[in-house]
Amino acid sequence: MKTYLNKIIKFSNVDGPGNRMAIFFQNCNFNCKYCHNPETISLCVGCGKCVEVCPSKALEKVGNEIKWIEKNCIQCDRCTEICSHNSSPKVKNITVEELLNEIRKVKSFIKGITVSGGESTLNYIFLTELFKRIKEEFPKLTCFVDTNGSLNLSDEKYKDFVNITDSFMLDVKAWDEKEHLDLVGVDNKNVIKNLKYLLLIKKLYEVRTVIVDKYLNNELTVKEVSKIISNADIRYKIIKYRSIGVRESMKNDLKIPTDIRLQELKEIANSLNVKNALVI
Ligand code: SF4
Ligand code: SF4
Repeated sequence: MKTYLNKIIKFSNVDGPGNRMAIFFQNCNFNCKYCHNPETISLCVGCGKCVEVCPSKALEKVGNEIKWIEKNCIQCDRCTEICSHNSSPKVKNITVEELLNEIRKVKSFIKGITVSGGESTLNYIFLTELFKRIKEEFPKLTCFVDTNGSLNLSDEKYKDFVNITDSFMLDVKAWDEKEHLDLVGVDNKNVIKNLKYLLLIKKLYEVRTVIVDKYLNNELTVKEVSKIISNADIRYKIIKYRSIGVRESMKNDLKIPTDIRLQELKEIANSLNVKNALVI
């Protein structure tokens, strides 16, 4: 079994509890206007444009595929900048065993792993196997999933995956369905369903909402999420939209909120008894 890996951060303290290995998969089923890593959205189509701009012979076109020669790469990012398919040639097609080998190297220094993306849950069969192997080999490590909430996790199909996952971190990008559709290209029915479901089964570690001034009804989203997680032991991250990494073509609609506005939203969450709301 193989899947596409974008990158690994060996040690992260912002992707769940404690020091964790954060694993980013390639491919997403949302196309968020404010995506900071748009090169993780799609799989490479092998057009070869990036090969032409690489200054250090780190890319080769082999048939319809691009071979990334990591040792030659100087991480200049010219390849991702030129790609018009929201992709990257610096992606590895990896097996569960290969990923386990990476975890083995750092197992003594981490509390667990967090899978992210792209959208990690699109690889739920791969992840079920990976988490099963982690539980067998490193029983102390926890397995967390960072998700956009697009798959209906209460469906029988995902039962084994949800059971083996220790906890989820869920993005609730917009409460209003039309707004969500406009922001990411998909409605939010499953996101809201998952918010309630993961809370019910006690597998919700954290909820996140990115605040974009003027464009999104942030207050509605913060209020509705807060009502649901009110009094529960769940962290609510109210995240300031920042333009770093965002596609130029998307920036016009998006305004950075003021710190005062972010604090007001945090106070709304607090007033609705969110136990652990924080602005980042
Ligand atoms: S990464 Fe982008 S530019 Fe490079 S071959 Fe793939 S689709 Fe084309
Ligand atoms: S980042 Fe991309 S363009 Fe730059 S050296 Fe590496 S492969 Fe080549």
